[in-house]
This record gives sequence, C-alpha cells and structure tokens, in this order.
Amino acid sequence: MSILDIRVLGDPVLRKPTKPVATITDELRKLIADMFETMYAAEGIGLAAPQVGRTERITVVDVEGKKYALINPQILETSGSIDKAEEGCLSIPDIYGDVERPSEVTVRALDENGNEYELTANELLGRCIQHEVDHLDGRLFIDYLSPLKRKAVLSKWEKSKEEYPGYIRKVRTEERGEHHHENETEM
Ligand code: ZN
Repeated sequence: MSILDIRVLGDPVLRKPTKPVATITDELRKLIADMFETMYAAEGIGLAAPQVGRTERITVVDVEGKKYALINPQILETSGSIDKAEEGCLSIPDIYGDVERPSEVTVRALDENGNEYELTANELLGRCIQHEVDHLDGRLFIDYLSPLKRKAVLSKWEKSKEEYPGYIRKVRTEERGEHHHENETEM
C-alpha cells in the first residue's frame, strides 16, 4: 500500500463531480486500500477520491472503528433534527467551521467486492458520510458557511496555502500529530 498526495483547496479536481464506477477492478481495490492508508496517515476519518486527484465515485470512512468503503454511494434519505457541529477537511488543513446537517442519513453503496449494501448512520459517522458524498459532487464544507465566516476562512487559507505548492499536500507519517486539533474531525 502507498500513501497518496492529498489535493488541497484550489485544485480544480475538488470541484469536479465524479463518475460512477462501472467495474470494480483490482486497480480500484488498490486505490481503496491506498485511500485508507492515506486517511490514517493524515489522521482523518474520511477521504474521497477527488482528494487524491481521482474522478471515480469512491469514498472511504472510518469513524470510531466503523470502517466502510463506499463505491457509487447514493443518499436515499436524510432525517432527524438539523444539527450543527464543527467540521474540518483533509483538503483544507487547519480550517474548521460549524456546519448544519441532518442528524441521520441512509446511504446505498457497493463495497469493494461489488456487494450492494444500505447503511443508516447518525452522529459523527452520519455527518462524515454526508461530507464525503458532498466531495463526490464537487461540494466542500466551506460552501455551507455564512458569507462572513467563509470570507474569514478563505483569507486565513490564502496564507496557509503557500505550504502546499501545486495544491499538493504531502502526507508523511512523521507529520502525525502536527495538525492536531482537539476535535479530530478532518474528513
Ligand atoms: Zn473533506
């Protein structure tokens, strides 16, 4: 397995809607394994294909040991109250903001063996799945912030993006902990 480079805000791939996967090949299974490896190395809880420069409709999540590969995920239903909680994104390091989302989501997807499954998730897992499916539609959590908050966040990003030439974030295992945040919610 290998750790992939993470694309950060400004790379156009993050804004491109992804394409559904027609056939799950060994190459895609390796991509999924590499995405898990990259997500763990960067200490995130979710990672979507565009974040590693790919255009397939694939995402991986691991929230408190609940680990899923979601291929061609489709949100069937959202329900429950609208909850506000802080989110961060591996593609916008060190930037956090409160996002309102439905507390519960039901999603249908294929696993890496092509088996279809449905999952109803709430709390952090439900939030993470919604954040990742947004990535697959070219949407980022900052899109939900108020205009004022978004402006503040983007001006902070103007400075920090200089650390990522070519909009590429190199993830090294020795970087672990460097981006520590008290609520670890980068996804
Ligand atoms: Zn993200």
